[in-house]
Amino acid sequence: MAKVESFTLDHTKVKAPYVRLIATQKGPKGDVIQNYDLRFVQPNENAIPTAGLHTIEHMLASLLRDRLEGVIDCSPFGCRTGFHLILWGEHDPIDVAKALKGSLEFIANESTWDDVQGTTIESCGNYRDHSLFSAKEWAKKVVDEGISSDPFERKVVKESL
Ligand SMILES: [Zn+2]
Repeated sequence: MAKVESFTLDHTKVKAPYVRLIATQKGPKGDVIQNYDLRFVQPNENAIPTAGLHTIEHMLASLLRDRLEGVIDCSPFGCRTGFHLILWGEHDPIDVAKALKGSLEFIANESTWDDVQGTTIESCGNYRDHSLFSAKEWAKKVVDEGISSDPFERKVVKESL
């Protein structure tokens, strides 16, 4: 079986919330992509309920693209403790943490239902399963705890993008 880096991480050693560079990979033509672990809550201690996680996913799709160049995809982990972020090119984890902080501050403090894209039966695969209330509460929790640019040592970013 293929070895998957995410499954070799000792999830008892990390200190969420954090951003972690999982890998920088080069394609056959030299294009570079990066895969980030955006961890919102402490593994095996907490998990974001599906409706809130789903709404955060829909909002991060645009909020992170507004703040970072080269966003390919941002999708939730099955364990519901965070997201994968895939980007073109090489980025500094500090900038990724600042962009996440700015995005979550917007969700927590400013967002209304009009800011959530893709919530109709045509544009979402489970449009009944959204909660902006939950999204805002969990975003606020992450912002209040601070987002570290290092998964093992708390290096909380102060600025947001
Ligand atoms: Zn959806």
